[in-house]
Amino acid sequence: MAAEDLGFIGLGRMGGPMAHRLIEAGHRLTVFDTNEAVMQPLIAQGAGRANSAGAVASSAEIVIASLPTPQTVHEVALGPRGVVEGSRVKIFVDVSTTGSVYARKIAVGLSARGIIAVDAPVSGGIRGAEQGTLAVMVSCADDIHTRLEPVLSVIGKLFHVGRQPGLGQTMKLINNLLSATALTASSEALVMGVKAGLDVQMIVDVINAGSGRNTATQDKIPRCVIPRTFDFGFALALLNKDVRLCLEEADAMSVPMIVGNAVRQLLNIAAAAEGPQADITEVVKSLERWAGVRVGA
Ligand code: NAD
Repeated sequence: MAAEDLGFIGLGRMGGPMAHRLIEAGHRLTVFDTNEAVMQPLIAQGAGRANSAGAVASSAEIVIASLPTPQTVHEVALGPRGVVEGSRVKIFVDVSTTGSVYARKIAVGLSARGIIAVDAPVSGGIRGAEQGTLAVMVSCADDIHTRLEPVLSVIGKLFHVGRQPGLGQTMKLINNLLSATALTASSEALVMGVKAGLDVQMIVDVINAGSGRNTATQDKIPRCVIPRTFDFGFALALLNKDVRLCLEEADAMSVPMIVGNAVRQLLNIAAAAEGPQADITEVVKSLERWAGVRVGA
């Protein structure tokens, strides 16, 4: 695989390990994050430091962004000192979860400067980012996909889900709606089982051998809820954003989201009670208080 000059903007919980893997794979990275502390480990690893998104986009043809909200990506792409001002960039790859509306807006804004926007949101959590096992949902033209494949396969398995801007985002939103539904519904089931007197580990073992198993019962609950570490590494504010974006897009398409609306309300209750930066696995705490029971150690 040929080493590339790459730009990387947003080195948080997901972006940090992805950038780390790209350096390990031999690519030359220039990085930028508004939080100096998260840039340090990558600079120590050999990455170049930029002081704006625009400077990153003057250092490489391919610029990747992993940022919290659609508004942040819009600002970083099209705002002052943004990617749009870069002198070298040709392809802007957004691996954040931003929804299809913003993906299309950003694609239009960047195309005015001849820059191609690719939405390539990811699923698989911090572990997936660290291990390079993310599901990467890419939407772009065939030739751009071919160009990006050797780079993005360092962070995970690529799915070329569409050719129009935004389809990768829609794919990601429906995935996260299901992931959020599994987490909230499994948390309710767990609280009920424990209150009835079932052993918490037994509940999880039986579900995982039966038809109720899902990503919460197989991973999040045994790893982060039962030991009460609540350290999955995904903030409630970000999952709430994903579910809200999904429901807004469904509404615009006249698609019903009856279960999805209940999931959204429960996540909002959890964020109000635990704080927006609380871990998504802490959603169980509101249910425990309501039921007057505690699950796990
Ligand atoms: P995070 O908050 O840990 O990281 C975001 C980073 O962006 C931070 O380091 C922050 O300082 C930086 N940043 C914010 N504004 C900036 C700006 N204007 N310019 C440059 N840097 C800026 O978030 P995360 O958990 O890494 O999530 C990033 C994206 O990936 C989100 O869209 C999220 O929904 C998505 N995602 C997260 C997970 C997960 O498990 N954490 C999984 C899949 C997808």
